[in-house]
Formats: sequence, C-alpha cells, structure tokens
Amino acid sequence: MTPLWKPLGFQRESPLMNLDAPCCPRPLKSGWPVLAKSGRPGGFTLIELLVVIAIVAILASLILGGLAQAKEQTRTLRCLNNLKQLQLAWHLYAVDNEDFFPGNDHWGSTLKDLVWAPGTMLFETDLIPSGFEQAVTNKMLLMSRLPGSIGPYAGSAEIYHCPNDKSYIILGGVKVPRIRSYKANQFVGSAGGGQALNNVATNRYVFKTTQFTGLSPSDTFILIDGHESSMGDSQFQPPTFDQFALNLFGFSTLPGARHRGSGTMSFGDGHVEKHRWKEKSTIIPVTRITYYIADVGPSRDVRWLAEHATCKIK
Ligand SMILES: [Zn+2]
Repeated sequence: MTPLWKPLGFQRESPLMNLDAPCCPRPLKSGWPVLAKSGRPGGFTLIELLVVIAIVAILASLILGGLAQAKEQTRTLRCLNNLKQLQLAWHLYAVDNEDFFPGNDHWGSTLKDLVWAPGTMLFETDLIPSGFEQAVTNKMLLMSRLPGSIGPYAGSAEIYHCPNDKSYIILGGVKVPRIRSYKANQFVGSAGGGQALNNVATNRYVFKTTQFTGLSPSDTFILIDGHESSMGDSQFQPPTFDQFALNLFGFSTLPGARHRGSGTMSFGDGHVEKHRWKEKSTIIPVTRITYYIADVGPSRDVRWLAEHATCKIK
C-alpha cells in the first residue's frame, strides 16, 4: 500500500541541491580584480588600494588646478579686453573733442565736474552721502552724456567691471554688485574743478595727446584695475615723487591685485598689460570699508607706479 506521505529528508537526486557543485561561487572572469579577503591571489592588498587612491587624488588635484588656472586666465583676458575697449573709447572721445582727454576730475558730482565715469564706488559701511547707492549700482550712469564721460563711446556698461571684482553693497538685505572696477591716472585727463592742479608745479599733467612732453605714452598708464577697498571716485591718485622726498611710500589709492597678485592697466599708446606686483605690501586684503595707506615702507611697486604715472617737472 502506497503511503500517503513521505518523510522530509535529504535526497541526493534533488535538482535543486547538488553536493558535487563547488560550495563557493567561481571567481569572476570579467577581468575586474576583486578585493581579496584573505590574501587570495588576484586582488588588491590594502596598501595597493591606498596607493591607487593617492595617485587618483594627485591626478584630480592636478586636473582641478589646471582648470582653475585656465579659468583665471580667461578672466584676466576679459579684464584686459575691457580695458582695451575703454581705452579705445578714451581716444575716440579725444578725437571728437579737439584732442582733449575725457574728464578726470575728482568727484564728478556736478555738471561742472568733468569725469570719464560718473559715480563714486563706496560701501554702505562707509561714511556715505545719502543716495550713494545710485552711483554704485545704476549702470545707466556710466552710459551718461555728461561732459567728459566716455559712456557714449564705450557702448556697454559691462566693460567697466572686472570679472574678478566681487565687491558689493547690501541694499534691503540683498547683496548688489558694484558696477565699476577701473580708475584713471590722476595726471592724465582734463581737470574741471582744479583739484588735479594741486601739484601741477612739480608733476607733469597731460590733458591732450600732444602733451606727452618728457613722458612716453607707452610707459604712462591711463586706466587701471582699482582695489576694491579703494575705489571711490574715478580718479586713481598714484604715489608721487614729492612723497618720496618725505620718505613716505604709501598708496593714496590702492591698485588692484585680484589677478593672482597682478594688476591690469592700459597705456597712453593704447596697449594693455598685466603687471605683477613685487611686494607683499601691495597685495592688500579686501575689506568692505574704503581706506588708503599712508606708508608701506620702501616699495618697488610704489616707485613703479610713480614712474609710470608722470614725471617730475625740472
Ligand atoms: Zn581685473
């Protein structure tokens, strides 16, 4: 009589379980190494894995460093291109105005003041006149047709701003970028209010292209990337030979150094260049307060700026 049930037990013939099969999965044949659990041939040891990780990290840092360098080179080229276009606008203005350079007076706050770029770049943390934010944020001001302005020749407000200039003011709790990064050599350009004539007896001022007497246009800078904490008005006040006589090596206006320790500028003959500052005392941290430095001690950079801004009248 056939039993109605069979006892559950081990059955060698079961297709689901074959005792002759290997008890462990076979090694992968894909070619990819696997980590050995117990020094089994074909896998990485821990030291090998660490070496591989270190090599990958070094390669990644090299690639990322190269990318960062390439990006900075692009930003420097954009800055130089801005200066080139502004310098061209500067010359076009002179062509249309009997060879007189654009305005480069002090504040440019009234129609009487001739100024190539109206507006004073301050921070809300400075002691500021009311309504200052208009000059700091309104790009239409740069395009103005005020006497002395090169805006109509420049054609675009964007070229007044260095790509590395991250300065801003806070308006209503929101960060708003400032619109201008460049300044113009105090000794070049017309003086409407007389402020620029203070040193006219000892330093050469150039108001027209034909007045580069004793100065080489290719060695005299016109527009310069300004320091974020020293932007203020549109006029760059270079160190002068007069202050050297007093043994003072300071910056009434700080030059920009935001291109990896270099500044950018245009020159009287129209060329532009990047200039690497040589002293650590020139590469000054950015603060959100406008200031100047009376004395940094003997400095090759202070002297270079003086020598490329004007010459002493004998
Ligand atoms: Zn720049």
